[in-house]
Amino acid sequence: MKFLKPVIAVLAMAASAGAPAQQYPTHSVTMMVPYAAGGPTDTVARVVAQAMAKPLGQTVLVENRPSAGGILAPEVVKNAKPDGYTILIHHIGMATIPTLYRQLRFNPLTDFEYIGLVNEVPMTIVARPNFPAKDLKEFLSYIKAHKDKVTYANAGIGAASHLCGMLFMSAIQTDFLTVPYKGTGPAMNDLLGGQVDFMCDQTTSTTSQIKSGKIRVYGLTSAQRVASLPEVPTLEEQGLKGSNVGIWHGLYAPKGTPKPVLDKLVSSLQQALAEADVQKRFADLGAVTYPKDKQNPAALQAHLKAEIDKWAPLIKKAGQYAD
Ligand code: ASP
Repeated sequence: MKFLKPVIAVLAMAASAGAPAQQYPTHSVTMMVPYAAGGPTDTVARVVAQAMAKPLGQTVLVENRPSAGGILAPEVVKNAKPDGYTILIHHIGMATIPTLYRQLRFNPLTDFEYIGLVNEVPMTIVARPNFPAKDLKEFLSYIKAHKDKVTYANAGIGAASHLCGMLFMSAIQTDFLTVPYKGTGPAMNDLLGGQVDFMCDQTTSTTSQIKSGKIRVYGLTSAQRVASLPEVPTLEEQGLKGSNVGIWHGLYAPKGTPKPVLDKLVSSLQQALAEADVQKRFADLGAVTYPKDKQNPAALQAHLKAEIDKWAPLIKKAGQYAD
């Protein structure tokens, strides 16, 4: 009897290692998140992971691999076994990172299989609760007058908060001292505590804080207002052009993941996003779920390529690089 347990464990491992791709998944799947827990990407990941567990018939574990700029998780997934048990959720950073980083240990265009697009989320310019400006006009004149003192929080070069900050600073032609975090989750804690002055963060994270009046908001980076925050104006309608950006999310698997496994991941994503609960949860957070014809590998690949081409000249013009 003593020997039975190890024998069973070895047999189970052998069975799962040799399980044909058609039987996938025979155990839990891990979804890697490039930013800190409690932040906007983590929030989207947890909604998707929970909803994909049902069609997959296995738990989807969310694992945060935070790093400034979100460049660690893609590298981990690139180097993971291509068996469908390690997948990646990432956002617009996959399209800006190749231009921002001179040295990158992965290539978004060649090292991954694509699963599909998930949703798009606008950003909000927000400030600590006691920031001395009640609207965008006051905010702009205050930060310009105190440009050597005010601090801008972001999640490192390559993060959406970095891109938004870069566009914003270039639109108002003023640079600020930036304070990098491993995600805007921890940055939000410091904003709430007054340790940093302002940031640009996705509505997936800022909506509840704005609604409860815990932070100040000066505008949205979308072309239109969002239903979940009807009283918040866009930056554009307040006359500030050049800061529009939508943060799109996609799901990836390591290059070489077998076709039947990828097919299962794609159909599970589509079933997850078709759930009314998921769409409502996203809408409540200001996010728009991509239509079904975008929830597939070809659409994500085409979108990624188009976004790399769109952002490269703007980033080069801003002259911001990391090594
Ligand atoms: N979305 C990131 C996060 O979850 C931060 C960013 O992209 O700015 O923390």
